[in-house]
Amino acid sequence: MTIEKKKILDELDADLLNISNIQDLQNIKARYLGKKGTVTDLMKEIGRIPAESKKEYGMLVNELKNDIEAVLEKKEEQVRELEKKSLETKNWVDVTLPGARRAVGSEHLVMKAIREISDVFINMGCTVVEGPEIEMPWYNFDALNIAPWHPARDMQDTFYIESDKNLILRTHTSPVQVRTMLKSKPPLAIISPGRVYRKDEIDATHAAMFNQVEGLYIDRQVTVAHLKMFLEILAKSMFGDRMQVLLRPSYFAFVEPGFEVDVSCMNCGGKGCNVCKNTGWIEILGAGLVHPNVLRNSGIDPNEWQGFAFGMGAERIALLKYGVNNLREFTRNDIRVIE
Ligand SMILES: [Zn+2]
Repeated sequence: MTIEKKKILDELDADLLNISNIQDLQNIKARYLGKKGTVTDLMKEIGRIPAESKKEYGMLVNELKNDIEAVLEKKEEQVRELEKKSLETKNWVDVTLPGARRAVGSEHLVMKAIREISDVFINMGCTVVEGPEIEMPWYNFDALNIAPWHPARDMQDTFYIESDKNLILRTHTSPVQVRTMLKSKPPLAIISPGRVYRKDEIDATHAAMFNQVEGLYIDRQVTVAHLKMFLEILAKSMFGDRMQVLLRPSYFAFVEPGFEVDVSCMNCGGKGCNVCKNTGWIEILGAGLVHPNVLRNSGIDPNEWQGFAFGMGAERIALLKYGVNNLREFTRNDIRVIE
């Protein structure tokens, strides 16, 4: 009984020639080394081998088994490598390609203006205070020295919530001044952003709802010079270091003296252009020293304390700062403006 070792190994090589996956390899392995495989069959033959040859025969079968195992092991290594490579090709990613840009929402320009204005004053030590948008006329008018006959109280100008005129939509953020002074002892330095409502004719520069940012500073011996310093810091922070501030005397019931405040035209730098109507100045806010009546109404003695207040439209600041030419752009949701 001989073992045709070479023939068996050649057959094995031929069987392994075209396989490309582990499953095929397992099948072939079973055919040679399994319970019904070639090697097992040869082992079973040992009973028919003459006693003196049994030992040699057994050694030969074992040798064959080791050789087959070595061949299969080597092949398995190759197949696994091949499978890994094909998987890598399938899942191949070019890491040098530019990534997909993720669209990030942007801050609304009016909110951005409010935040930037607020930051200027927060850096100067002001606290942000907010108040109700639905307000009692006393806080919105009476406490602020606005006389009962004042046209601002008219139904034409103010949204009344109740027919008996006990609740309105605030027409400015100034009632927050009163509320703050009634609650806290001076010295005070606050900034108050918020929505306000007026029955205005809606056009390129007027809306029925807009945002104001109000400032109030109360201390001893406060003068217009302090107010001007605050406003200069605001103008330079918002529009650049070359900005100058011009106070023009004006009348607001809740301040005395009152001012309309201009800054150098950001378009022409003060030389005169169509944006500033050739004046070189652009009005950005109203301000003044807090009227003694307002201090008194808010529980503060005007002989001991003085203060200044200012208020500006956030939309107007945003128009000027970001070069938007129509107030309506802020609510039209034109994606080019928003971005
Ligand atoms: Zn100009």
